[in-house]
Amino acid sequence: MPKSLQYLLAGLAAAVGLGWGVWSIVSSLSPPMSPDHLATRNKMHFQCIACGAAMELHVSQLPEGYLAARMRQEPQDGLDCPKCGKKKTCHPDIRCPNCGAHFFSPECFTGDVPEGVKVSQTCPACGTHPVEYYRNRRP
Ligand SMILES: [Zn+2]
Ligand SMILES: [Zn+2]
Repeated sequence: MPKSLQYLLAGLAAAVGLGWGVWSIVSSLSPPMSPDHLATRNKMHFQCIACGAAMELHVSQLPEGYLAARMRQEPQDGLDCPKCGKKKTCHPDIRCPNCGAHFFSPECFTGDVPEGVKVSQTCPACGTHPVEYYRNRRP
């Protein structure tokens, strides 16, 4: 089996087993599985729940232990927002693979979903389900 296919299958198994949020983190740490992933490798998308600012952070910019704690599904505080200055308001989000909109799924939060934050498994802008989207694009 070609190595790239193995990674693809491993990623898919993780998506089914652990949920999209964790999968997107795992995939960002793993070798590239597709051109899409090559572009976002080692990067995570965050969104501020206070001001809505979207940002892309390289894993090296994350606080020490942040990813490891998320992998263990431990409740994690958000990161401080560089745009509005609020504390602990930036959480990993999902970028719609179809239209590029940012949104939160329940898996984005390892702790309780903060009050007032809407979560969805599908893109609120175009209705795309990211896991289904990648599944359908599998060769
Ligand atoms: Zn903010
Ligand atoms: Zn969309």
